[in-house]
Amino acid sequence: MSDILLSLKGVKTYYGKIVALRGIDLDVHRGEIVTVIGANGAGKSTTMMTICGVTRAREGQIIYDGENITTLPTHQIVKKAIAQSPEGRRIFGRMTVLENLQMGAAVIDYAHFEEDLRMVYDLFPILEKRQSQRGGTLSGGEQQMLAIGRALMARPKLLMLDEPSLGLAPLVVKQIFEVVKELNEKQGLTVFLVEQNAYHALRLAHRGYVMINGQITMSGGGKELLSNPEVQAAYLEGG
Ligand code: ATP
Repeated sequence: MSDILLSLKGVKTYYGKIVALRGIDLDVHRGEIVTVIGANGAGKSTTMMTICGVTRAREGQIIYDGENITTLPTHQIVKKAIAQSPEGRRIFGRMTVLENLQMGAAVIDYAHFEEDLRMVYDLFPILEKRQSQRGGTLSGGEQQMLAIGRALMARPKLLMLDEPSLGLAPLVVKQIFEVVKELNEKQGLTVFLVEQNAYHALRLAHRGYVMINGQITMSGGGKELLSNPEVQAAYLEGG
């Protein structure tokens, strides 16, 4: 079994004639937290969507758990234990918290529902308090917790998070990132995180990639990038 869980090799993605990813190479090892940081419009969400097959790579390959998934339909990719918490959270606003979590578990036919629900409630106790409340009535932070909880109900091998900090208060961001760290340390969960919030993302991640205009321009250890003057000037100062 390879140490690499996910590998992108020369991935190019277009929206019509517009190129969004210009040949991305990156690896995520088993048990790692890897982040892609970059400004608005750099191509972070497109990277995530391309991995899930929602947006198709026109060139290059996506290898997951030793298998080429580049052209697989999204529903088959999801079945391979890749779970995503998308940008903007996309929770089901009219459904209750509990129903949202049931939706996450549907992917694996509710095989471990009670056990996994307990795990999610232990990670995010506020979700248990709010379990009968409609998703749309939750605060932004609670909705983000619900989106992550829903992804966890699918028992992912790879958890992908798209800008979990977006629009949230610093304290809530800290709390959510601590849970991600705990999941990684205690359960060995592999996490792929794309973030504009470079400070929090690089502090959390074992390794990071910097993306500019659809290209990876720099990579290194999370702490190493955090102390890199170019990264500091572009993404951290005043941020
Ligand atoms: P954000 O933080 O805003 O989500 P991002 O780094 O995730 O930024 P993407 O959303 O992946 O960036 O966008 C990459 C590029 O592709 C941008 O230039 C964007 O305008 C373009 N783009 C994204 N979605 C579409 C689309 N559906 N149609 C056309 N162009 C798109």
